[in-house]
Amino acid sequence: MSDRQAELAANLADFRVRLEAACAAAGRDAAEITLVAVTKTFPADDVARLAAIGVTDVGENRDQEAAAKHETCADLPLRWHFVGALQRNKARSVARYADVVHSIDRPRLVTALSEAARGAGRDLLALVQVSLDAAPGRSGAPPDHVPALAAAIEAADGLTLGGVMAVAPLGADPDPAFARLAEIALAMRADHPEATMVSAGMSGDFEAALRHGATHLRIGTALLGRRSGVVG
Ligand SMILES: *Cc1c(COP(=O)(O)O)cnc(C)c1O
Repeated sequence: MSDRQAELAANLADFRVRLEAACAAAGRDAAEITLVAVTKTFPADDVARLAAIGVTDVGENRDQEAAAKHETCADLPLRWHFVGALQRNKARSVARYADVVHSIDRPRLVTALSEAARGAGRDLLALVQVSLDAAPGRSGAPPDHVPALAAAIEAADGLTLGGVMAVAPLGADPDPAFARLAEIALAMRADHPEATMVSAGMSGDFEAALRHGATHLRIGTALLGRRSGVVG
């Protein structure tokens, strides 16, 4: 086993211990939580190493990087999550490899991704990314835009509405933000009972996310180590 393989295995084991503890504290069943390993800035070799130790879901936030890694890792039994800000002109590319797109925050993305998915002969799970702070310029739809976006995704060929996604506001207590997300998710399920996914929680705040119903944790640093020098 390479040093890096051993390091990733140790990180994954440590994380699973923390996940079990956080689930026990929150009254959640760890078996119902999906770990999405966010591999951005790390090489395709790391994706393969994670797959070899049982990771089933990986997340990327930049199309070019994700497309290249997916090509290298196409034979691995992995579900690919696109978690970054999505540009309309990247929809065609993303639709070729992503199984789940977490970052739908405006109607024109629904249209573009729907066309792209149909063109690729694929069906993608699509999550509505919600903005939990009022900061302009950050990704995510305002909460009052969520119902219309959900309806648009539900009506779009090639897309299946999966649920909601959010990033906690920077530098603030994540608990109230994730509590708000839980309310938004509940309201969405009233109209769309199948939309059960709540993508919330990163390395620094996954315990809080679990307290508020997260089903999919997006974990980078705790599994792969610190990202050096690269933005994102
Ligand atoms: C990078 C990233 C993550 C992982 O963050 P860590 O703090 O490294 O766990 C999760 N979600 C999104 C959208 C990201 O861009």
